[in-house]
Amino acid sequence: MATSSGCHLCPRSCGADRNAETGVCGADNTIRIAKVMPHFWEEPCVSGTRGSGAVFFSCCTLRCVYCQNRTISSGKFGVPVSQNRLAEIFSELRGMNVHNINLVSADQYAALIAPVLRKVRKNIDIPVVFNCSGYESKEMLDILDGLVDVYLPDFKYSDSGTAAVYSDAPDYPGVALSAIGRMLDSVGKPRFDSDGMLSKGVIVRHLVLPGHRKNSLGVIESLCSAFSLDDFIFSLMSQYTPNGDERAPSRRITHFEYESVANKAISYGLKGYFQQFSSADASYTPEFDGRGVLKV
Ligand code: SF4
Repeated sequence: MATSSGCHLCPRSCGADRNAETGVCGADNTIRIAKVMPHFWEEPCVSGTRGSGAVFFSCCTLRCVYCQNRTISSGKFGVPVSQNRLAEIFSELRGMNVHNINLVSADQYAALIAPVLRKVRKNIDIPVVFNCSGYESKEMLDILDGLVDVYLPDFKYSDSGTAAVYSDAPDYPGVALSAIGRMLDSVGKPRFDSDGMLSKGVIVRHLVLPGHRKNSLGVIESLCSAFSLDDFIFSLMSQYTPNGDERAPSRRITHFEYESVANKAISYGLKGYFQQFSSADASYTPEFDGRGVLKV
């Protein structure tokens, strides 16, 4: 949270004075957005037939070395917007008849976005989705309580060492489990509308990393021991693509890696989405060009 002692909004708690500087996440006190678009590559109960109204925010609190969206997670690209303009963007997305408003990588702006959501919520009769890394503090989720309908957190690491190497966040496993628990407290078990679209609930995503099968198996064990299987939807992703960073794994996952993780998830009774191995493709990353951010 931004206070006189600086920003402590996310688990980094870096203490930056965001009126005068950027924090570890790369953000200052101005919201920046890289793209606004109907997005068709989320889970089917989020994207539906008309798309999810995605707002891609610049900067990131986690900054994984293998990130596919580094242009924006690094904060290199992003169009500054006021809170009034953000409210307009939400209304414009609603006007496009999308299924929901999807806030992608918005953690670092949660305290700035919350008042906007509070103001527009009564006029926007579609769910608000918070699409995030799993590295959220209780304080941040308290700010969002009652304003978000659907959480899409990653649960990236069960292994602290892997979290340290790839995201400089050795505390990630415990933080993410607590965050998912807080999200479940806030929105409850999955609920769907008459069209089968998710109106409330949590989808926990996990991307299998090359060479880290045990990390993935640990993710499944941690989730299943911490939560009831009916509490959340699980989404297993296979599309890891090397981004050229020498610190990141330089190959894609193998069939064996994916299938052993998928089989374990199924044997534990996890229900949800299992991405086709053949769909592992970098085309899931949209081009970030600022489209839809400024008023035309
Ligand atoms: S949100 Fe950014 S500025 Fe605030 S504590 Fe986290 S990294 Fe630091």
